[in-house]
Amino acid sequence: MNLQNHIASHVRTLPRSGIRDFFEIVQSMKEVISLGIGEPDFDTPWNIREAAIYSLESGHTGYTSNLGLPVLRERIAEYVAQHFHVAYDPTSEVIVTVGVSEGIDLALRALVNPGDEVLYHEPCYVSYSPSILLAHGVPVAVPTRAEENFSLTAEALAKKITKASKVLMLNFPCNPTGATQSREELLKIAQLCVEHDLVVLTDEIYSELTYDGHPHVSIASLPGMRERTVFLHGFSKAFAMTGFRIGYACAPAPLTEAMMKVHQYAILCANTMAQHAAIEALENGARDVDRMRKEYELRRNFIVRSFNDLGLECFKPVGAFYVFPRITSTGLTSREFSLGLLEKKQVACVPGPAFGPSGEGFVRCSYATSLDQIKVAMTRIAEFVSENKR
Ligand code: PLP
Repeated sequence: MNLQNHIASHVRTLPRSGIRDFFEIVQSMKEVISLGIGEPDFDTPWNIREAAIYSLESGHTGYTSNLGLPVLRERIAEYVAQHFHVAYDPTSEVIVTVGVSEGIDLALRALVNPGDEVLYHEPCYVSYSPSILLAHGVPVAVPTRAEENFSLTAEALAKKITKASKVLMLNFPCNPTGATQSREELLKIAQLCVEHDLVVLTDEIYSELTYDGHPHVSIASLPGMRERTVFLHGFSKAFAMTGFRIGYACAPAPLTEAMMKVHQYAILCANTMAQHAAIEALENGARDVDRMRKEYELRRNFIVRSFNDLGLECFKPVGAFYVFPRITSTGLTSREFSLGLLEKKQVACVPGPAFGPSGEGFVRCSYATSLDQIKVAMTRIAEFVSENKR
């Protein structure tokens, strides 16, 4: 039996994640300093872990409502209103998901008909294009440029809009570049979305992690946008809760209802203990988020300065926990740089093209690693760069 022939063609032709291949090599090596991981190095704050333990101890071992615990949905609505200035009804416009990952999948499956085009800025999070393909949509990348600090311009977006365009995916602060978006540019993008009747999926998973006092603006809060936006957020990054697998989607009731149908049949409900932990995170987690944010900011300052001192041009991102230095001055491709650095100096970073073809010439380094480790890694990178000087 040739099982390959039995696999759905849109799954068979899906490429494996470039990050996964790379990390299989990393895992087979010893003494590697990893700047490759996209998850906080901090443990989940203790009070949040305790809430999950207490949930179990109290016997909360059953399903919750499909939409999620009512108290959690209320806290989410309050949090989103306070931090993002958009009001959602917790009973009909908030759905608790298994991370933002599930939120992306739900929204795409609820919105996309076969052949609909889904626009996204690139370099971008590895799952966007595959998730669009899995929903039978057509991924349309809008390249962003280092010269523009990897922000998305309305001008570049307008060039890619066609009659088949239906959805625009945004992720600011951005993985892998750390880019953010100014209110002025977001307003222009919002205007395009209204003109072309696009629905926006905005993945704001890094929104608490902004630096230099940079204010985060959600496109959902701009005029005319709430009615056409699915706002996606979660607990993985700011609250250091990746393993809890918990997030949420907020959207006008008809969109939430459509996503809810997919969620109900595919997932049923998010993990109950994680939902209790998320309530604690929203009620008492702010101080820890700020503590971690301050530490990330110190690391960012160090790593950006170090790359630029080495002659690897690196813009100073004001969000997320990644830097995206240009490595073309070494004469190596992104893959050659990452593999060489790993083999010769035991430092792991991700080749830029893992985030789309426009990432060639760059590598992604995460600073969700202790400052001490980052310092050692930068010394090794300096040696590698000087050994590879053209
Ligand atoms: N969106 C972006 C931009 C991410 O970087 C990640 C994880 O790295 C996710 C979504 C997935 O988040 P979650 O853990 O909430 O599923």
